[in-house]
Amino acid sequence: QALNDEICEICEVWTAESLFPCRVCSRVYHDGCLRRMGYLQNDSAVEVTETAHTETGWSCYYCDNLNLLLTEEEMYSLMETLKLCKIIPETCLTLDDFLHYKHLVHKQQFERPMAEEQEERAALQFSALDPDKKGHIEWHDFLSHESIQLLQKLRPQNALLRLLTAKERERARAAFLALDQDSDGFIGEGECHRARHAWFRKHQKETPSCSVSISHVGPMSESSPVSSGSGKSQEKTPPAPEREEARPVDWPGFLRENVAYILAARPNSAALHLQPPA
Ligand SMILES: [Zn+2]
Ligand SMILES: [Zn+2]
Repeated sequence: QALNDEICEICEVWTAESLFPCRVCSRVYHDGCLRRMGYLQNDSAVEVTETAHTETGWSCYYCDNLNLLLTEEEMYSLMETLKLCKIIPETCLTLDDFLHYKHLVHKQQFERPMAEEQEERAALQFSALDPDKKGHIEWHDFLSHESIQLLQKLRPQNALLRLLTAKERERARAAFLALDQDSDGFIGEGECHRARHAWFRKHQKETPSCSVSISHVGPMSESSPVSSGSGKSQEKTPPAPEREEARPVDWPGFLRENVAYILAARPNSAALHLQPPA
């Protein structure tokens, strides 16, 4: 079983008072130390103390920031793309900004415009990044999303698997074993795909109607820009590789299929940084 460190990451002191464990890595922290270093703003202090010891858990400042997973070169290439697409760092993005950006990136990579279906996926991703339906997405959520997208694009799957921590592997293993009810080492492909939604453990705000719940599968909500009017996004079957067949999935396959989503679920933010296909 993955063990937590015994001393606080910041002051390196052991004390009997309770330490807050990170849900991703083995680091533990004093809340006083987090506050002293400026990692806790006034109201997030309460959030940490409330969630760190719950099922939801809390990610420390290393694990909360997906951007830190990028190498310097990858970061440079991301910043170049943002500059080309006239995205101003540290600002919020509206749906139009986001779609415009996605169009440009797509054109750059594939030298043809985005298909209607891809645009719908992008719009769904936007609403997943805007759980409170403010009509814009925060810069750090956008950056986390783009970071995980870039990792998916640039790194081989084995390299992504190496990013998983002992805790993440343990949780994935438990999820796989729970799905493998007859213990033959295989689960259905559908179950494997549905699991991609299950990694996101988000802190529930007091306004339950607009937060994305962990178990939420399918179109984001009535008010999301693409699902309004018709059930279009649900009728559309995903592209060929996503089609469900009865192909059994073993443990390594399960981990490969889910690794990007497990990583994307690290940040504490209520946003969903990588929306799994419905
Ligand atoms: Zn400390
Ligand atoms: Zn951590």
